[in-house]
Amino acid sequence: MAVPFRRVSSTRRNKRRTHDKLSAPAVVVCPECGEFKLSHRVCKHCGSYDGKKVMEVK
Ligand SMILES: [Zn+2]
Repeated sequence: MAVPFRRVSSTRRNKRRTHDKLSAPAVVVCPECGEFKLSHRVCKHCGSYDGKKVMEVK
């Protein structure tokens, strides 16, 4: 059976898999309609962004 040649230091071990963490999407409440929307995106419920209506909602 293969045995590790050297002990992996705690720093090196803790540096594993730091680059593929999932982060929760930035969800905020729309100031126009009060629905949840993604931050820095046009609200899909009312089509507004930055207090202005920028898109028609079907
Ligand atoms: Zn909205």
